[in-house]
Amino acid sequence: MYQFNFVRPKSLADAEALLAKADDPKLLAGGQTLIPTLKQRLAMPSDVIDIGALKELSFIRAQGDAVMIGAGTKHYEVAESADVKKHNPTLAYLAGLIGDPAVRHMGTLGGSIANNDPAADYPAACIALDAKIHTNKRLIEADEYFKGMFETALQPDEIIKEVTFPHPEKSGYQKFPNPASRYAMVGVFVSKGPWGVRVAVTGAGQNGVFRVKAMEEALAKNWSADAVAGIKVPADGLLSDLHGSAEYRAHLVTVMAKRAVAAAG
Ligand SMILES: Cc1cc2nc3c(=O)[nH]c(=O)nc-3n(C[C@H](O)[C@H](O)[C@H](O)COP(=O)(O)OP(=O)(O)OC[C@H]3O[C@@H](n4cnc5c(N)ncnc54)[C@H](O)[C@@H]3O)c2cc1C
Repeated sequence: MYQFNFVRPKSLADAEALLAKADDPKLLAGGQTLIPTLKQRLAMPSDVIDIGALKELSFIRAQGDAVMIGAGTKHYEVAESADVKKHNPTLAYLAGLIGDPAVRHMGTLGGSIANNDPAADYPAACIALDAKIHTNKRLIEADEYFKGMFETALQPDEIIKEVTFPHPEKSGYQKFPNPASRYAMVGVFVSKGPWGVRVAVTGAGQNGVFRVKAMEEALAKNWSADAVAGIKVPADGLLSDLHGSAEYRAHLVTVMAKRAVAAAG
């Protein structure tokens, strides 16, 4: 690790002030990505601002037609929440598939979507459920938030405070996990709600999460696994690595989409 100043603010307001005045700061949530990055000397922040213990960022509230989840909420809390299970069971199911118990007890919703790993699960949920990302500065629609591999609309002085997930009428998520890390080789989230029908794919795209419009149109006409069975996504633009080729991932998108629709019922 390179040397840095370590600070643990007592409130979100303190964290904002520290973030604004430091030269090259980094927020620390559960440390599941940031700590290994620092250990490998892949980042050299001037200040590490630990927001992991801020109670203001850790909550789950069901209100009206949505569930609001604080950015500091751990994956296991989302997986076990009675409110999430009741109103958005697929979101709880997805959180329970992330990594292993140790990762789920440290990793956070905010850290996951700030990092925007192309194989992370939450980006698919955010896009498919038309989520709203609230920062200390503004509200960002999920469609405007994910910009590419490890890239988001966040500015350096922004802190994610919470994510609002409107309740879906129907939803399903299926992932083909990498057997070592449990990250998605391909994960497909399908939903139907006030936003229409959405199909979001994670794990496959070189630019991170993406929607499959052809599947959305087919499901809008006929909500059934058969409706997506014949729809293939092109391998161009998909990830190809030692875990699987782009063609393999393209094939998995259709398979996971069929399973996700079947799971949604
Ligand atoms: C072994 C392993 C397996 C995993 N498997 C999966 C998986 O199957 N699926 C999956 O989706 N993920 C997986 N993950 C990722 C994990 O779930 C974490 O969500 C992810 O690593 C981010 O970690 P964190 O929440 O601890 O954030 P940190 O590591 O603390 O921070 C990550 C980044 O987000 C920024 N950040 C954190 N909070 C905020 C905020 N509120 N506002 C703005 N920026 C913020 C930090 O500055 C940093 O840049 C895995 C991780 C590991 C180590």
